[in-house]
Amino acid sequence: MSLLCSCGLPGRLKFHPTSQYFCSSCFSRKFEKRILNQIPRFVRGNSIAVALSGGKDSATLLHVLHKTQRKLKITKLMAIILEEGILELQLARKKIINKLKKNYSDIDFIKTSYSELFDYSLPTLVQHSDNQGLGFTPCAICGVLRRHGIMRLALENEADFIAMGNTLEDEADTILLNIIRGTPWKNSRGKIDYQPADRKSLPLRIKPLARISENAILNYSKIHQLPILTNQCVFAYRSLRSDISIFLNSIEEKNPHVRYSITSSMEEDTKRDRIVKVVQKCERCSSYSPEFECAACRMIQKIMN
Ligand code: SF4
Ligand SMILES: [Zn+2]
Ligand SMILES: [Zn+2]
Repeated sequence: MSLLCSCGLPGRLKFHPTSQYFCSSCFSRKFEKRILNQIPRFVRGNSIAVALSGGKDSATLLHVLHKTQRKLKITKLMAIILEEGILELQLARKKIINKLKKNYSDIDFIKTSYSELFDYSLPTLVQHSDNQGLGFTPCAICGVLRRHGIMRLALENEADFIAMGNTLEDEADTILLNIIRGTPWKNSRGKIDYQPADRKSLPLRIKPLARISENAILNYSKIHQLPILTNQCVFAYRSLRSDISIFLNSIEEKNPHVRYSITSSMEEDTKRDRIVKVVQKCERCSSYSPEFECAACRMIQKIMN
């Protein structure tokens, strides 16, 4: 394969192992175009809240949306940040957020924590769950709180859409994770429309990076010298997701398209028969939920009672 980019300059960057080489500027342009292609047309003319962890994925997404804000006619771009209550992560994230605030002075950075929203930090919930042998992994607890927390912040700040930094790896690994955990129905969440009983709609989640590999995102973040959080969460080693990631990485050595195939098969599935579920406000925390009590409140009750 040629080491020259199509523009004639030396190429050294690829989107995936079998793609052609690109120079930095062609790579960057193509990368941004791929992201824009993943954003449905109906998003234009609305406000977007980016769920920002500070890692390379969400920082890259924020950068690209900020750069293309006018083209996409985004009326307001904001970043929502949820602190888990892990001190090392919090301190490192604070530095990154401060740098991002300087880079994007026109963006609102809205920060809150699990403790503020749910009364308990993640380490407290993990400790209580472990002590009682409830079998919740830290990531399972964190995932539920994050999903509800992001939605609450987006609603409070009147965002029309929530942009998530999920990558190709995140999406493919999650599909396999749900199958291994025996919860394959979670893979069909994308085809459920949640209809609140007391308002027109809820902010919709979009995942513009879902077809882009982490390696390509890392290359883009380096080209643009984005400040990114590199600290790992103290609970990461306990996640089943990292085992699945290692497994799929090893398969990718022989079949570089395996994650594309996994995500494509699920996209086909979610195109069929959309389901509408009516949701109401949770009796405890006012999050929207198909049950009287939302999944976050039910989980916290179970752990802390
Ligand atoms: S590794 Fe797990 S517990 Fe830690 S921040 Fe990520 S999802 Fe939450
Ligand atoms: Zn080029
Ligand atoms: Zn609740």
